[in-house]
Amino acid sequence: MDESQFKNLAKDSPIPAAPVMPNMLDGGHVIQFRCHRGVKCWNVCCSNIDITLTPYDILRLKNRLGMSSGEFLQKYTVPYEMDKDGMPGVKLRAVDGGTACQFMVPEGCSVYEDRPTACRYYPVALLSLRRQDEYVDRQAYALVKESTCLGHLEERKLTIDEYRQEQGVTEYDEKGRAWRQLVLKRKSAGPSIGRPTPLSNQMFFMASYDLDRFRAFVMSPSFNETYDVPVATMAEIVADDEKLLDFAMNFLKQVLFNEKFLEEKPGAQEKRLARLKQKAEQMRAEFEANRERLEDEKYSEAFRKLGGGD
Ligand code: SF4
Ligand code: SF4
Repeated sequence: MDESQFKNLAKDSPIPAAPVMPNMLDGGHVIQFRCHRGVKCWNVCCSNIDITLTPYDILRLKNRLGMSSGEFLQKYTVPYEMDKDGMPGVKLRAVDGGTACQFMVPEGCSVYEDRPTACRYYPVALLSLRRQDEYVDRQAYALVKESTCLGHLEERKLTIDEYRQEQGVTEYDEKGRAWRQLVLKRKSAGPSIGRPTPLSNQMFFMASYDLDRFRAFVMSPSFNETYDVPVATMAEIVADDEKLLDFAMNFLKQVLFNEKFLEEKPGAQEKRLARLKQKAEQMRAEFEANRERLEDEKYSEAFRKLGGGD
């Protein structure tokens, strides 16, 4: 699949002219399509990938592969920027020196039951749309027709909703909705929200994609000194990735848009400032120690040059 061919479609409305079927479709629209082992183009779409991953895609894949989110990100993804403000995104990484998906095998997809949202949707593309006065997305679809994909010539007709059902997209859409809305809101945020800081981009990356690191962050003493998280909630999110992801999305709304989610503990602000002050003092002490060491070395060197060394 070459997502670049329809990436223009996935922007906010209105849809610009696109090389492939620039029509907005609804779930009841009937398409003609079937993909199966017998097609001549088997695996063609997975041989040239450009697939953006959602947080839920990563959660499913890393658990299937039995690895941490950090290991998964390193081995199977490449980072990219989703907007001009550096909002971090991740894409599937192709095989070394090639364009094929690392999960592609002659039989098809080796992670089929946990394949990403974009793979499930193809050749349908999900368009997340937002009106100027709304912060919720409205779903619409587009059809991607690439000449290399012969599935469009198969004699099977079904609605987009039936196709989504068949491909198990509904669950993925549901679990990815909070993140999609967050991305839309950030992309369309005006000056009142302000330009995101590098720190908020880092938090966005960790909470969205590096879930195991986010879990460690939530369990850290500094987080718990700052926020009041009910014991039952903490127990749930520590044990359950999906609940942790929901928590992460709500936490991001608080960090990025000041939407109240967690109560700060009394005195948290003061403690945070004290910690920052302590850190600054520690850095200053280290700097001073280094400066003294360098001056000592400079002095010894000059002394040696004057013939006073041993
Ligand atoms: S994850 Fe599976 S379906 Fe998606 S591109 Fe890779 S091999 Fe193809
Ligand atoms: S029919 Fe389309 S989706 Fe199926 S293998 Fe061929 S190119 Fe890929």
